[in-house]
Amino acid sequence: MDRYGRSVNGLRVSVTEACNFNCFYCHREGCPESSREMSSEEVGCIIEIAAGFGVEKVKITGGEPLLRRDIVDIVAASVKPGIKEVSMTTNGALLSEKAQELAEAGLNRVNISLDTLDAEKFARITHNGSLGKVLDGIDAALEAKLVPIKLNMVLLKGINEDEVDRMIDFAGKRGMILQLIELVDLNGADFREHHLALEEIERSLAARATVVRTRRLMQSRKRYLLPNGEVEVVRPMHNTKFCAHCHRLRLTPDGYLKPCLMRNDNLVDILSHVREGDLNGARRAFVEAVRRREPFFKRTERERCPHAL
Ligand code: SAM
Ligand code: SF4
Repeated sequence: MDRYGRSVNGLRVSVTEACNFNCFYCHREGCPESSREMSSEEVGCIIEIAAGFGVEKVKITGGEPLLRRDIVDIVAASVKPGIKEVSMTTNGALLSEKAQELAEAGLNRVNISLDTLDAEKFARITHNGSLGKVLDGIDAALEAKLVPIKLNMVLLKGINEDEVDRMIDFAGKRGMILQLIELVDLNGADFREHHLALEEIERSLAARATVVRTRRLMQSRKRYLLPNGEVEVVRPMHNTKFCAHCHRLRLTPDGYLKPCLMRNDNLVDILSHVREGDLNGARRAFVEAVRRREPFFKRTERERCPHAL
């Protein structure tokens, strides 16, 4: 539990900075560059410590996690007592080769990034990524039962906002959940030009939905059940509710605990303790990282006490 009463139940583990795509908007999970990299055993050790403090969900991310040659070992090392779900966020380009092996190693489910179904646009966004390979990866993930699969679609003004309905159909027909993600201003590139506030899209989803759920343990995201599919909306920017209901801690590829996506001035080194065999030190590092957590977008006094003044 942090100083703001938020329990930590998820660990988002970035295992590499490398990527085979180069999406122009990418924040690379907000991780600074480094030459140090955790081994699969070290990842497993840190997850075990996290599980000891009550963490139940692990998400493996990057860069592109499937570029790690030992990704199957990393998944296997993540399966620890107390961890109820090991998932991965991937661009999917290498998934057709790996899906089955990953499932056998203990991966429960995947999120696959897909901003467009137009091959030309896809190549423009990712700097020459192949849409066909990602579609093959989606088929392989479905076959390997890495479900429920979420498709991550970052909304980009002037590029893909006209594709939302097509994506809902595409995801719905395959039993996947479409996750609409607001562009986060972290790498500075083209944010003003392409940022789209998602209020209008959410209003239209709400009008068509048969059921609307609020996922309190998932940053208070809304999930809309529509006749042709399921859509979840992730709106982090200037969203005090999102931060108030954030229950995750991050781990950078070089072994620092990262209390917030948006900041790099409060990281806590845990890998050095693990490398020295100092597990008590590693546990203290975990506690310190949780202590350093604070909402990035905070509620104002007036929002907290609307009847004051
Ligand atoms: N390479 C993998 C992938 O693309 O799924 C995993 C890493 S990627 C950084 C994780 C997720 O962050 C992807 O779904 C991606 O679309 C999203 N993302 C990257 N930059 C973003 C930004 N500036 N705003 C919002 N989401 C972003
Ligand atoms: Fe970033 Fe993922 Fe795109 Fe790679 S595939 S550039 S990590 S969003």
